[in-house]
Amino acid sequence: MTVEAKSHYEAIVIGAGVAGIYQIKLLSDLGVDATVLDAAPDLGGTWYWNRYPGARFDSESYTYGYSFSKEVLDEWHWKERFSSQPENLRYLNFVADKFDLRKYMQFNCKVAAAHFDETANLWRLTLSDGRKLTCRFPILAVGLLSIPTPPKIKGMEKFKGRSFHTFHWPHEPVALAGKKVAVIGTGATGIQVIAEIADKVGDLTVFQRRPNWSAPLHNSAISDAEMAEIRSRYKEIFAQCSRTPGGFEHEPDRRGFYEVSREERLALWDKLYASPGFAVWLRNFREIFTDEKANAEFSEYIAGRIRQRVKDPAVAEKLIPRDHGFGVQRVPMETHYFEAYNRDNVHLVDITETPIVEITETGLRTTEREFDFDVIVYATGFDAITGAYDHIDIQGVGGVKLRDLWSDGPSTFLGMLVHGFPNLLMPSGPQSGSASTNFPRAIETCVDWCTGLLKYMREHGYVRAEPTLDAQERWTEHVKQMYSAMLMRKAKSWFTGYNSNVPGHEYGKTRYLVYNGGAPKYVSKIAQVAHNDYAGINFTIGSEPLTDRERVAETNAA
Ligand code: NAP
Repeated sequence: MTVEAKSHYEAIVIGAGVAGIYQIKLLSDLGVDATVLDAAPDLGGTWYWNRYPGARFDSESYTYGYSFSKEVLDEWHWKERFSSQPENLRYLNFVADKFDLRKYMQFNCKVAAAHFDETANLWRLTLSDGRKLTCRFPILAVGLLSIPTPPKIKGMEKFKGRSFHTFHWPHEPVALAGKKVAVIGTGATGIQVIAEIADKVGDLTVFQRRPNWSAPLHNSAISDAEMAEIRSRYKEIFAQCSRTPGGFEHEPDRRGFYEVSREERLALWDKLYASPGFAVWLRNFREIFTDEKANAEFSEYIAGRIRQRVKDPAVAEKLIPRDHGFGVQRVPMETHYFEAYNRDNVHLVDITETPIVEITETGLRTTEREFDFDVIVYATGFDAITGAYDHIDIQGVGGVKLRDLWSDGPSTFLGMLVHGFPNLLMPSGPQSGSASTNFPRAIETCVDWCTGLLKYMREHGYVRAEPTLDAQERWTEHVKQMYSAMLMRKAKSWFTGYNSNVPGHEYGKTRYLVYNGGAPKYVSKIAQVAHNDYAGINFTIGSEPLTDRERVAETNAA
């Protein structure tokens, strides 16, 4: 029977990105009858889609890669400290091919609906092409930032040039030389694109609503000798990542902000500003995240750096955020971003002063003037974390819709299970460790945990696992509490569920999407649950052996 012809699996993994690839590896090792469905024509998730110029890791490549296989660690050579999208996609293909995982994957398969069948304790999935599948365990490896949100601007459909959201940057090269290009949005994506294309286009106009704090990435090549050295330290590197709150090598400076002199603070900041990656954010004093005054002092330090780098003082002032401090939103890392604005062909339009009124056939119009463009790039972000769940009609016990249940924000148990949605597993779910830390580090943790639960159920003949409402409420309350200490709780960013392009996700309606307690605390909490026989989860034992029930279901569904 070919993978396409089957209609029942014990587990169906939705998403063939970083999480889905590792999940299917573990399921196949365990002998679980499983498949992976992905809406895309190929594997890679985020790294399949985001092909815009400048797309690369902000995490050190060697801390982003999987840690589970010594062979992969030995064989793969990261070429850059912060590797670019094409190499990242090659890496994921390398891993999938190495373990022959492609045979479990089905592409161009968009899951439209997943409904729980209480009588059979099965999930019934409908694909957008009408195909119907059943499984015991739907495993949603749907990514955190997989639903792009273009703005809703009058006239967008009229534009005669090329326009796209960065997520849908065309796969074939886009001719930019000599072209007049607009970029709308200055988040981590916009900042990467702008810096990369500034010297390649004819003319670039950036439409900025709010500036972001950003600092140099300091990317560099990794030589053979350096890679050999990294390989020899892999164990130590991953152990270090598991000790730090963010799952990176970067450890906060544990001296008290107010216990050291201003000179010592400046010395640390000069060092961090010259250091690669998130060091400037995550090796900083812990008070930067929690204390307004400490944060303001450091933000002013970064503002000084921007003023030094941008020649036109008026432009520099426009690039300095006023409404939030450094690091309370996810910090975009940049390579010559601020210098781009020193070029004659790059222009900055502050759309809080002169809002965009409409997109026209030939460009766009602000309240001040008309612009002509050949290309308009929407770098306007994502319906983060819950968006991918909202886009599937997920119905649990009693036909309750997950998107209704989560309309004011998600509520989960450990970020991986939901009361009323038995057996639905979310290794990168809202409120899990995955959403706020070095993604693959947390992904491995969560995929391991979900697989452990599945194994436990098989061993005990359980057919249904569902967290209690009480356990879920306690977890969600804990997640909320973790926000309360952080300045980030006020951020107008996807960390707090804000997205101006999605109705109901306005600023002020905080949705508690990420786990802010740090990786070590998260790992310890979920390990404790597993150790205590999955306390907080109710199990139902099958009246027949699991495999027989599945065979019956398969026959019924066929
Ligand atoms: P984002 O951080 O949400 O930024 C979206 C930008 O578009 C913001 O500047 C926003 O302005 C602007 N915008 C949104 N709607 C707009 C509208 N209707 N009109 C005008 N401007 C509008 O999205 P992102 O840059 O795609 O980044 C999202 C996340 O992806 C990042 O935080 C990061 O986690 C991840 N990412 C990672 C990497 C990496 O690892 N290397 C690279 C890129 C992205 P406001 O701020 O005013 O809303």
